[in-house]
Amino acid sequence: MTESTCPYCGRPGKFAFRAGDHLYEVTDYQADLYRCENCASLYQEPVPTREVIAEFYPGGYWQESSGKPSLMNRLQATYIRWMLEADLMRLVTKMGPAAGAWLDIGCSRGDWAALIRDRGWRVSGLEADPRAAAYARETHGLTVEESDGDSWNPEPETWDVISFFHLLEHLRQPKTFLVNCRKALRPGGRILLRVPNINSWQFALFGKRWKGLEMPRHITLPTPDALKAALKEAGFEINHASTWALRDGPPSIASSLLPAGEPTRQQIKRKPQPVMTLLYLAFTWTFLPLELLAALLGRGSMLTIIASTSSYSRNTGHTTQTHRGV
Ligand SMILES: [Zn+2]
Repeated sequence: MTESTCPYCGRPGKFAFRAGDHLYEVTDYQADLYRCENCASLYQEPVPTREVIAEFYPGGYWQESSGKPSLMNRLQATYIRWMLEADLMRLVTKMGPAAGAWLDIGCSRGDWAALIRDRGWRVSGLEADPRAAAYARETHGLTVEESDGDSWNPEPETWDVISFFHLLEHLRQPKTFLVNCRKALRPGGRILLRVPNINSWQFALFGKRWKGLEMPRHITLPTPDALKAALKEAGFEINHASTWALRDGPPSIASSLLPAGEPTRQQIKRKPQPVMTLLYLAFTWTFLPLELLAALLGRGSMLTIIASTSSYSRNTGHTTQTHRGV
C-alpha cells in the first residue's frame, strides 16, 4: 500500500480539506485530509514522519496533575472519576464477570485501568509517553509497558480483553494494529474501543473546529462501516456498537464551541482558567440532550465498539447485537 491510498480499504482518495491544531495550538503544522472515494474514511496525506508526529504531543497532553491539592483539582479529580464510572463501567459490565487478563492500550496515567482492576480484572497497560507510564506505575501500581500502538508486537494469545480508547485514530497503521490485537487475544477474547465518529452531527456542524477531528494528531478517521469491515477482516465479530459516550460526546460539543475551556488545553498551556472551565461544564450539560438524540439516531460523536474473536460469538451466542443503525 502506498501512502496515497486509504488506510482502511486501500482505494484512492481525493483531497478534502486542510486543517491545523485549532484545539490545543501546539503546532503550526497543517494537515492535508483526504477522503476515500470508496469507504469515505478520512486520512492524512502525507502521513507525517514519527519525528514530526512527536512534536504534536506536548507536555500535559496526558493530563498530568499539577500536584497541588487545591479545591479545583480535587473537584476535577472527583468529576473525572464519576464520569469514568458512569460512562465506562457500564461497558466493563457488558464484558461479563471479571475473569482474566485485561490490557489497556494507550492507558495514559492509568486512571481507567485502575478502575477496571478494582472490578477484579488483572490489568496491565501499554503507553507511549514515559511520563504518563511512570505516573500509572507509581500512583496506581500498574504494570505498564512503554510502546506506541504502531510499534507494539505482542505475544500471541496473552489477553482476554484489550481496550483502546482514542488510540486507533492516532496510529499510522490501524489495520495492522487490529490484526495484532486479534493475535494477542486468547480464544474467546474481546476488544473494547472508542474512536471519533466522522458520521456524527457534530462533525457536520463544526467541521474543522470539531474536537473529534483533532488535527494534526489524528492520522486516520474511519467511517463506522469502514472500521467494522476492518474488524471483520482482522477476525472479529461485532457484538455491540453505539455512538453514545457520556464522558466524551457532550464535552466534545463544549470543546468545539469553546476550546479555551478544554481541561487538556489548559494543562498544555499551563494556564488554568476557572471561568472558562465553568462555562465549558455549562455547555457540556446544556447540549447533552442534543448529543443523546444524535446518538439514538447513530450520529453521536464517538463510536464505541465491543467485538469478539469470531469463533467465540458463534459458539456461545450470548453476546448482544445493539447496533442502533450506526
Ligand atoms: Zn477507504
